[in-house]
Amino acid sequence: MYEEEKKRLLDTCIEMINLEMVIGSSGNASIRIGEHVVLTPSSVHYVTMAPDEMMVVDLEGETIEGERNPSVEKHMHLGVYKAREEAKAIVHSHSIFASALAVLRRPLPTVIDEVVPKLGGEIRVAEYAMSGTKDLANHVVEALDMRSGVLLANHGSLCFGKSIEEALLNSILLERSCKIYLMALQAGTPIELPEEVVEDEADIWDMMRSY
Ligand SMILES: [Zn+2]
Repeated sequence: MYEEEKKRLLDTCIEMINLEMVIGSSGNASIRIGEHVVLTPSSVHYVTMAPDEMMVVDLEGETIEGERNPSVEKHMHLGVYKAREEAKAIVHSHSIFASALAVLRRPLPTVIDEVVPKLGGEIRVAEYAMSGTKDLANHVVEALDMRSGVLLANHGSLCFGKSIEEALLNSILLERSCKIYLMALQAGTPIELPEEVVEDEADIWDMMRSY
């Protein structure tokens, strides 16, 4: 089942490794196809993984296909898919600058023009809960409201998109923007975009997300 999606999912994970957004088997990613979700398995290193080691689960988390265990973060992925119809693919990364901001438990304010049309606005920090718990899934869904990206307290980030390629690009954009913001904070006082610009850009995000 879903051979092409499994391959694209693995390519995404390898790209995350190459970009140093995750190491080994950490982080995870998924693609939704109707009532099914193709999801990375738990504890399998991406560089040695074969596409057919990817798992297929339904929206309740029951395994449909695959010999491995689904990622421990499956509740988070399924929670986002259930809450957000426009989410077709998810990338969860442990990238350095997004994680640094998440450790500070500071949101990413609207300081970069590119972020609002792609991710919706200020990027909030989901309240802390242990990795793999339903509490974390609930906190993520809550902080992700009206956004395509979120920071996870003391953990990392999650972004979704209309395709796995778009979810990865959103994740890279979030990482770059957190890096710029943290560098700006060290040099001085970051200045936010004008409010009316943020509103216009948020309208663009709202219009584009359903396409
Ligand atoms: Zn994680």
